[in-house]
Amino acid sequence: MSQTDDGTDVRLADGIDHQVAMVMDLNKCIGCQTCTIACKTNWTDGGGREYMYWNNVETKPGSGYPRDWEEMGGGWDEDGEERTPGELQSKEEYGRAWEFNHEQVMYEGSDEPLRPMEQPDWGPNFDEDEGAGEYPNSYYFYLPRICNHCTHPSCVEACPRSALYKREEDGIVLVDQDRCRGYRYCVEGCPYKKVYYNAMKKTSEKCIFCYPRIEGEGPEGEVLPPSCAEDCPPQLRLVGYLDDEEGPIHKLVNEHGVAVRLHPEYRTEPNVYYIPPFAPPQHSESGESIEAERIPRSYLEELFGPDVHEALNTIERERAKVERGEESEVMEMLTTTDTADQYRLEVFD
Ligand code: SF4
Ligand code: SF4
Repeated sequence: MSQTDDGTDVRLADGIDHQVAMVMDLNKCIGCQTCTIACKTNWTDGGGREYMYWNNVETKPGSGYPRDWEEMGGGWDEDGEERTPGELQSKEEYGRAWEFNHEQVMYEGSDEPLRPMEQPDWGPNFDEDEGAGEYPNSYYFYLPRICNHCTHPSCVEACPRSALYKREEDGIVLVDQDRCRGYRYCVEGCPYKKVYYNAMKKTSEKCIFCYPRIEGEGPEGEVLPPSCAEDCPPQLRLVGYLDDEEGPIHKLVNEHGVAVRLHPEYRTEPNVYYIPPFAPPQHSESGESIEAERIPRSYLEELFGPDVHEALNTIERERAKVERGEESEVMEMLTTTDTADQYRLEVFD
């Protein structure tokens, strides 16, 4: 735990100098999957990685990727000391790539529409935009997910060969490919199901927080933000360090409490935080707004824990301030288009 000058506590893992972190504003996500493709083309476009989406965007409520990952276990018990058992997910739960009838349609003169050769029953993003609720009060929102580079990572603890580790300089969780023997205990142990097994290489692989980019991979050696953040059309991600007191991440998480963790009850202490989603109120049958939440708070509490209530209340108050023409540091941080504030990656030596 480190005490900052502003009096808020930031818990860093033992032996870690600083902790990279990300805040994603779910009110901006349009589900376009540009982040997914940015990551895929950079890191997982072949060689046993075809099924992997280190970054995925799933519709909530929904089963997600892999299917029903929230029911697969992993993480820590209530005291945060004993790991809880997790399951290995099957290829079907990730969703296989289907064969399409390209050959027949393109080269054999078939009048059939282009479509999968078999009847698909599941795949990544299969339940996109289904959501929940009854029309006209149905609802859904998008949830982008990457590895959380957790402060208390159960994937690291699960590995008997210490192949997974947190980097000392920034807390990024990596898999040492030379040490890994492909036992997949890390795959079972991560409750967010963000470690993937490469059957061709016979090792585990995962999001690397684009560390070559944040180390200065630009053409002139400049520091670049992770691809999934930089390529996002609505720019919903802030990237920086949790222990950078002047940065928006520290302020949104530790000072204002408006950015919350996904499934904090897994007790891995994620370093990816979310601004929870707002939705318009429900409508009556005649189309008038009524005092009823469209996205039930109880559902948001299931996802983000009890802190989500205070986060939403604070955001509501801050929005009202802006509507009255007053200043709001929270809303300024959430709407900035200044990349120096969005991506604060050069604050520590
Ligand atoms: S999200 Fe999973 S893979 Fe990533 S650090 Fe946490 S426990 Fe490990
Ligand atoms: S930080 Fe980089 S490696 Fe991780 S999900 Fe985003 S693009 Fe992929």
